[in-house]
Amino acid sequence: MSTKVKVAGEIVAHCRKCGLDLAHVVCAMVAGVPKRVLCKTCGQEHAYHRPQEERGASRSSSSERTARPAGTSKSKSVHEADTESARERAWRDHIAGQPASAFALYSPRGTFVADQLLRHAKFGDGFVSRVIDAGKIEVVFRDGARTLAHGLSG
Ligand SMILES: [Zn+2]
Repeated sequence: MSTKVKVAGEIVAHCRKCGLDLAHVVCAMVAGVPKRVLCKTCGQEHAYHRPQEERGASRSSSSERTARPAGTSKSKSVHEADTESARERAWRDHIAGQPASAFALYSPRGTFVADQLLRHAKFGDGFVSRVIDAGKIEVVFRDGARTLAHGLSG
């Protein structure tokens, strides 16, 4: 018996609405492959899904497909960890082994210079990575760089 698939012909496909492999009418074909089918049971037209029986045989290729998004998100978090460790390393290079007396207590009224070590009441120990202008400095703390005020008078 011939099972040649053609538009308006019948084919067994998986219907997600019915949750079963059922007879469908082919609505559209692309390059000899059914693209859209109409479920004869629920009457819904949907994209062609291969019968589940058939899919069970090629499980390895479908698990490969689902593994890919997890891989991309993993490589993204690896990249984030890299930038974080580079910043933490710079922070550690400045802070490590420094006696408490090396740190100036941060106050917006103080005036700070590049590479100066300072201790912030809330953010902890950090170093001045750059002086932005007479009123702002960029300070690298363990959890990241922050812009702080300095040189305030009064
Ligand atoms: Zn259906």
